Amino acid sequence: MRQELAALKRQVRTNEKIWSGFRKIEIEAIGAETFHQLVHSVTAGIKRTFRNVDAASIICLNLDYEIVRIMAQRDVPYAIEESLVMVSDSELYQWFPQPLRPLVGSCDEATQQRLFPHCKKSLGSMAVSPLIVSGKLIGCLAQGSYDPQHFSADAGTELLEHLSATIALCIRNTVNVARLERHGLTDPLTDIPNRRFLERRLDEEVERCRRYGHPLTCIMLDIDHFKSINDQYGHSVGDSVLKSVADALCKGLRASDILSRYGGEEFVLILPETKLVHGAKIARRHHREIKNLQFNAQDKRRLRITVSAGVAVLEKPLSGAGSDLGQWLLQRSDQALYQAKRQGRNRVIVAK
Ligand code: GH3
Ligand code: MG
Ligand code: MG
Repeated sequence: MRQELAALKRQVRTNEKIWSGFRKIEIEAIGAETFHQLVHSVTAGIKRTFRNVDAASIICLNLDYEIVRIMAQRDVPYAIEESLVMVSDSELYQWFPQPLRPLVGSCDEATQQRLFPHCKKSLGSMAVSPLIVSGKLIGCLAQGSYDPQHFSADAGTELLEHLSATIALCIRNTVNVARLERHGLTDPLTDIPNRRFLERRLDEEVERCRRYGHPLTCIMLDIDHFKSINDQYGHSVGDSVLKSVADALCKGLRASDILSRYGGEEFVLILPETKLVHGAKIARRHHREIKNLQFNAQDKRRLRITVSAGVAVLEKPLSGAGSDLGQWLLQRSDQALYQAKRQGRNRVIVAK
């Protein structure tokens, strides 16, 4: 009787410890503003809080490529490649046959490879709890220990299920925020960044230009006589022309280049660390490529278009440019574009 009581007391103390550790992790998770921050704080928090947990990861379904898109974001302050695993729904449901309950017990090599691909030493036990939002399985939270006894099949899982429910909600919220943010910064017709995105990024690039002295080139392109395409062939042909031009401009883009639909039939390309001569070459290449595009109009008629472009650069010394260097660069390219239009369109003008 006395022994049983002592064991019960120990159990209560252990649960209290787990509970207070989970509370801390939960509070950090709720406070996370981005998906990256969330994954980082949960996985790092678990390893920091529980001495015997040696590996932690979040496994996520990649529905609609949402997670891939979030992972593709640049300049994020949290590295989570080692804590996040993407999974297909068939694989996920294979791990969690109904009812959706945590998997607790030993960890074999194949499972370790899948759930903790970056953990090199062999794990002895694991606890993997499903992440569920509105009854739907969206992923799981995996913890691993080198100690084969640490996670045992007969341990209670209520606390873990509680933590998992909170994390699942936080994942859904941060993914939703990222989606909204992306929609606010992407042009729905061409699926490339819009003017708002460009202006944000331009400020950052101007700052880098100012600090490191790299030249920053801007190309502004405008489709010639686009209104008459709409008038002659209809708005939907006009739309498909816009999409094809955006696709053509995407080709050959470096990861650091920024392309945006700046206005109706106007596109802006910002090329960091690019001199004016190179920017001019790129503008001429795009000009040529777009001229060679062919579109299907009604009655199997073939339609071709041309663009005019203005190219300008921001480089040291920055004297002459105003205080708002980004706006100055856009204006210079716009003036060059205006000249191209005045001189008869279908050409590239480089600002001197
Ligand atoms: P210019 O050579 O001087 O640039 O002549 P333009 O006809 O291209 O220029 P203008 O500014 O007169 O006309 C632009 C047209 O682009 C007018 C507008 O209806 C059309 N436009 C803007 N956005 C869209 C869009 O999303 N889809 C389609 N189909 N047309 C659009
Ligand atoms: Mg135009
Ligand atoms: Mg225009």
